[in-house]
Amino acid sequence: MFQGPLSESLLKKAQEKGLIVFNLVNIRDFTTDKHKTADDSPYGGGAGMVMKVDVIAKAIENTKKNSELLPAGRHGRTPNSEHRTILLCPTGKLLTQEKVLEFSKLKNLTLICGHYEGIDERVRELVDEEISIGDYVLTGGELPAMILIDAVARHIPGVVKEEESVIKDSFFEGLLDHPSYTKPEEFEGKKIPEVLTSGHHKDIERWRRKESLRKTLYQRPDLLAKFTPSAEDRSLLNEIIQND
Ligand code: SAM
Repeated sequence: MFQGPLSESLLKKAQEKGLIVFNLVNIRDFTTDKHKTADDSPYGGGAGMVMKVDVIAKAIENTKKNSELLPAGRHGRTPNSEHRTILLCPTGKLLTQEKVLEFSKLKNLTLICGHYEGIDERVRELVDEEISIGDYVLTGGELPAMILIDAVARHIPGVVKEEESVIKDSFFEGLLDHPSYTKPEEFEGKKIPEVLTSGHHKDIERWRRKESLRKTLYQRPDLLAKFTPSAEDRSLLNEIIQND
């Protein structure tokens, strides 16, 4: 499952440049029986299979040991030497931009992907954190892990060529991103905002900031409630509220 996303686009280039190193671990390699049993039926009965704690414990221990031998990403930022083990699960803390930034500063992350009905509850004691990517249930932790990897990679210096585009992304500053347009200037009667072709950089910046505030106000008022606006932001917000 990981091969597609890890061998395309920015993640592929990041590995080629030595900025990130991935180590894919197959949990079945840590089973002890000839059928490579990584799951079993739940105590107390019921539907589905549960992933075994003893197998996962061995996988974590081995992965931690191996990751110490892996080279650190060569991205120039002094890496925090911390190793964090994260269990992907729908009952975990929601993955936010804040968490993503925090993870991007660590040297090693071990991501554990559950499957089937879930994992033996005792696995939770073996991990540092439990992370959910949203209030819905997927069949396995692989897609959530890939989402976490992709989001974290964007914050590793050198992965995204224009660092400015990461800084201006939605959530970075606590606001949604401003709208963007490209050619054609007019599509089916819909023209792009005039200011964008005016050549006045200050006006363009002001317009972008205002639209960013407007989008956040209408689409994510919860984010705006946590945001600390500057004096300029406050005056833009007043304009929006008075004129809309
Ligand atoms: N029975 C579990 C529950 O209701 O909490 C759901 C298990 S789910 C079918 C199988 C695995 O998918 C989980 O162990 C977890 O690794 C992964 N998973 C599913 N939804 C997820 C989410 N929203 N965030 C992170 N991981 C998720």
